[in-house]
Amino acid sequence: MYQANEKRYDKMIYNRLGNSGLKVSAIALGLWKNFGDETPLSTQKDIIETAFDNGITYFDLANNYGDGAAEKNFGRILREDLSTHRDEMVISTKAGYYMWPGPYGEWGSKKNLFASMDQSLERMQLDYVDIFYHHRPDPDTPLEETAEALDLLVRQGKALYVGISNYRAPEAEKMIQLLKAKHTPIVVHQPRYNLLDRWIEDGLKDILKQEQIGTVAFSPLAQGLLTDRYLNGIPDDSRVKKFDSLKEERVEKTIVQVKGLNEVAINRGQTLAEMALSWDLKDDSVSSVIIGASRVSQLMDNLKALEHLEFSAAELAEIDNILG
Ligand code: NDP
Repeated sequence: MYQANEKRYDKMIYNRLGNSGLKVSAIALGLWKNFGDETPLSTQKDIIETAFDNGITYFDLANNYGDGAAEKNFGRILREDLSTHRDEMVISTKAGYYMWPGPYGEWGSKKNLFASMDQSLERMQLDYVDIFYHHRPDPDTPLEETAEALDLLVRQGKALYVGISNYRAPEAEKMIQLLKAKHTPIVVHQPRYNLLDRWIEDGLKDILKQEQIGTVAFSPLAQGLLTDRYLNGIPDDSRVKKFDSLKEERVEKTIVQVKGLNEVAINRGQTLAEMALSWDLKDDSVSSVIIGASRVSQLMDNLKALEHLEFSAAELAEIDNILG
């Protein structure tokens, strides 16, 4: 029988999402990879329970992670071991990417969002999620319709808060305005943000700050590039070999920079993974970084990022210099 660690809240940092009342753990666990049916349930349990035992309260899912298997597996682990802790958790899911065939299985129509939400709740066996995200902007559906669907899902009690993900600055601003006009609790934007991908610094960050919407960064380790994983070649059990979301060519293209960053991390007394997370979190507009992990040891390493969040001006300059 799982017994939660009584000291789980001692070391974690909790940050408010924008100006909302909702706080999330500065490190969140994402279930995009490694939580589908390809990974033994016992490994998934170990990672999720170690996360919870170390103060991680925010668990990030989506309808399409593992083609629905991640939600099913997470729901099962929750029921079997963590059900008494549901109120200590922020569970999010998303809709927008391809999930089922035909015209309603993806994007941003009310038809898609309503069906997807019900399917996600069914798979996880939950009555509600804490945050429901629109996963990506839809070029064809009017933003007004997507906003209306998100608003209604909150009014129906299926989501407590809503978020958007992968929206560029102008469409994010419009969506935020639409939702605010309806008094829908839009509290967060979830973009990719890491040392190798700083696109949000070009406008989006300012908008989110101005609108007091929280930022949670996905792929803060660039899917593992910003770790020691590829410093000496491409291991057989790595994401590059297991999934097609990270390509060998990308490793080859970035490895010189990554090795340079690794030196900076060593001089700071951190692993590269820890430094990459600290770098995201040094910015107080970033409420949380959503990490992935294929094993417990990676999670434990990543948690140590919180012990050293400060950067000197010289370190930041050196990092910028390496990244060109
Ligand atoms: P990361 O950038 O954190 O990459 C995770 C991978 O990095 C792990 O699977 C592992 O690779 C490696 N890794 C992690 N920690 C360490 C460590 N300490 N030392 C060595 N290697 C390490 O995040 P993800 O790309 O997995 O994304 C995280 C979450 O963000 C997702 O689960 C999802 O919730 C969210 N997300 C959202 C998206 C959106 O569109 N909104 C898109 C993508 C992600 P390996 O498997 O090789 O061991």
